[in-house]
Amino acid sequence: MAREGGALAETETHAAVIPGAPRTRTPELNPFEAVNFFFHRAADHIGLSDELRDVLTSSYRELTVQVPVRLDDGTLQVFTGYRIQHNGARGPYKGGIRYHPDADIDEVRALASLMTWKTAVVDIPYGGAKGGVQCDPTMMSMGEKQRLTRRFTSAISYVLGVNRDVPAPDVNTDAQTMAWMMDAYSGRYGYTPAIVTGKPVELGGSYGRDAATGRGVVYCLEEAARDYGIDLAGATVAIQGFGNVGSWVARLIGELGCRVVAVTDVKGGVHRADGLDVPALWGWAQETGSVVGFSGAEEISNAELLELDVDVLVPAALDRVINEGNADRIKARVVLEAANHPVTPAADDVLQEKGVIVVPDILANAGGVIVSYFEWVQANQAYWWDASEVESRLADRMRAAWLNVRDYAANNGLTLRTAATCLAVERVTEAHRLRGLYP
Ligand code: NAD
Repeated sequence: MAREGGALAETETHAAVIPGAPRTRTPELNPFEAVNFFFHRAADHIGLSDELRDVLTSSYRELTVQVPVRLDDGTLQVFTGYRIQHNGARGPYKGGIRYHPDADIDEVRALASLMTWKTAVVDIPYGGAKGGVQCDPTMMSMGEKQRLTRRFTSAISYVLGVNRDVPAPDVNTDAQTMAWMMDAYSGRYGYTPAIVTGKPVELGGSYGRDAATGRGVVYCLEEAARDYGIDLAGATVAIQGFGNVGSWVARLIGELGCRVVAVTDVKGGVHRADGLDVPALWGWAQETGSVVGFSGAEEISNAELLELDVDVLVPAALDRVINEGNADRIKARVVLEAANHPVTPAADDVLQEKGVIVVPDILANAGGVIVSYFEWVQANQAYWWDASEVESRLADRMRAAWLNVRDYAANNGLTLRTAATCLAVERVTEAHRLRGLYP
């Protein structure tokens, strides 16, 4: 098995990611296998039994549903949707809903298991889940998206529940999507604001949820800089993705003295060595739907952005963007994993060899699920906190999680990723033991 610190190739290190499978060399890891690769590395460190590995490298429940939608042109299109519950030992299943053409079962499985480790590493009382519909929402009208969301919610509603499984937004879904989901669920089960998080504040959402993931990413950078002696005054930052997470990172990271020099989205990107005017860029993207064409900046592609000579690189779009093909050309000193699973196992080893500080997804982007937890708590008690209370509680939780992970890494000679995963796996397996699951 892979040892921490070793620069082992992806092809020769993942052993038996599928329970019972022979330990053979595999040329490509799908997203779920790749996430399980990181799991096995942590499981090796803590000496986890094969039985628990079998439980934790597969999903508890996988629901695939048909989602027929009447399109505006009168035709019917049938989409495929998923809700995957990975582990519920520590509490209700929790995780976002993604609308994307690539949201297949392996991707959703991977994202569901990451949610188990994320909720555990920041110590909130949830398990892990994820949902997705394979569709291209950029080609759909609001009416089509609403019909898709209502049909999908109805199809998965049997496995949801305030104390069972609580969805949230993810790529291409937002507060409006959550409002439709809540309404569709409430129509069947009675008014249930705690059934989803990331709702509009007017419908029982929490102040601060919108910015929470980006804010948590920025807290991690602040802590990492302090602990690893990085001067952030004038530090340069490149951000891939300018949606919920990327745009909030861009808007908040200046508070640390950093300069955002490049931003991309699905259509392309912009670069300005002196620093981009982020509020103006935000306005432009709101107006035009993309950062592309922003005045006073040069064009840059997504591939070029990742390889820029910057201090901090923030992948905040999709998974596996840093991989065997480009890892050795990454020049950033710090990679903040705002996106889920943006770095493949092989690339992770290359970055480690190069001395890049990688703040792993299950820690870096956990601010969103932390404030989702606050939203659920508030909706359950039907009493809402003000924005400053949400922010200070988020800061406390993110900083506590950072310190736990940093100390675990330092005390055991591990990377931040393996330390975070070890902590999470220990908490989940302790919950299994205490509950007497599978005696
Ligand atoms: P979003 O839909 O709001 O934004 C996604 C951004 O990525 C957009 O700017 C889009 O143009 C860009 N993008 C999409 N495809 C791309 C491509 N092929 N190349 C380059 N850019 C592309 O989504 P989001 O909520 O900001 O999520 C971004 C990432 O953060 C995802 O990995 C998601 O799982 C993760 N995440 C989100 C949250 C949350 O609270 N929203 C929480 C934790 C993690």
